[in-house]
Amino acid sequence: MKIFTVIGARPQFIKAAVVSRAFRELRPDVREILVHTGQHYDANMSDVFFDELEIPRPNHNLGIGGGTHGQNTGRMLEKLEELMLLERPDWVLVYGDTDSTLAGALAASKLHIRVAHVEAGLRSFNRRMPEEINRILTDHVSTLLFAPTDLAVSNLRNEGVSDEKISLVGDVMCDAAAFYKTRGRKPIWFDTLRLGIDEFVLCTMHRAENTDEPDRMRRIFQGLEKSGLPIILPLHPRTRAKLKQANLKLPSNVYGVDPVGYLEMIWLEAHCKLVATDSGGVQKEAYFNKKYCVTLREETEWVELVDAGLNELVGFDPQKIAEALQSERQFLSGTYLYGNGRSAEQIITRLLTIAGGEDATNRSVQD
Ligand code: UDP
Repeated sequence: MKIFTVIGARPQFIKAAVVSRAFRELRPDVREILVHTGQHYDANMSDVFFDELEIPRPNHNLGIGGGTHGQNTGRMLEKLEELMLLERPDWVLVYGDTDSTLAGALAASKLHIRVAHVEAGLRSFNRRMPEEINRILTDHVSTLLFAPTDLAVSNLRNEGVSDEKISLVGDVMCDAAAFYKTRGRKPIWFDTLRLGIDEFVLCTMHRAENTDEPDRMRRIFQGLEKSGLPIILPLHPRTRAKLKQANLKLPSNVYGVDPVGYLEMIWLEAHCKLVATDSGGVQKEAYFNKKYCVTLREETEWVELVDAGLNELVGFDPQKIAEALQSERQFLSGTYLYGNGRSAEQIITRLLTIAGGEDATNRSVQD
């Protein structure tokens, strides 16, 4: 069997790392063709993950990044179609909600190649987010939908997706958190900040809705400043560029650093006081590390965390942000919300079961 995996952005490298490793360990007979679209291309947004997470070098790198959504998606579609025709895979595997996800799913479905979507069924119900459009479209052209949560399953059912296409497998990021837990690495600059363990807030912010509106970005930084807490902020390249464009300086309690590798990130998550973020992945990693999360958005796809009282949605109101950060809320242990850390195994089993037998699911998509 041949799998054609499309990745392109930081969170996809992390998700694909666990599934790819599971393939190599459990089914070395399966050939995985790894295609990097080039959506994230800086060394600290791409190469570092291949090195640290021991992901094999991509078989193809399309070098497509830096354009608008339309430009990127269009160029990826064209190149991916060419490669799929050349490689003739049994499955195309896509992850998450980026332009690379959508381009991979769309190219494959038009060629009548079966598509499996990992992290299917998530919805923010905010269609102004590019990620939401990518998720919805990808789910509806996919053959198999690997949903991380019960809620994701019901979102898909509510949109009329038939049950035989959906598999509840838990979250591959939970697999990653469990596997890399003991391999966290303290960043070399950490001691120079003279911050104590469990004393700082770890913050990430890169969603277009926050960075592309200067007033909104300004208000978020006002909130971070108002909290008075020491804040470590690994700066996503988009955020860095937008700060410059808006002529905004970081407040003195916010330590902006370059993006860190995954192993440094999990060390920071394990040793911070709490997390403030607009990232999907980081919200869950806060939970895996038993840290309270203040989410710099008005809605989230990971609603279970909010319902469990482990995550607070504060949007971009400075007062709300500052109060939430200062609130000294404690993390309350809960049940396993995202599976048992063996999602990759379940994904592989399901893919192989279908590959070995009837594929009625596939026909219903392709006809
Ligand atoms: N991450 C990282 N270094 C950083 C910031 C984030 O390794 O400087 C990791 C983080 O631990 C998580 C993933 O990147 O696993 C989340 O990616 P991102 O926030 O870019 O995307 P999202 O999850 O919002 O789609």
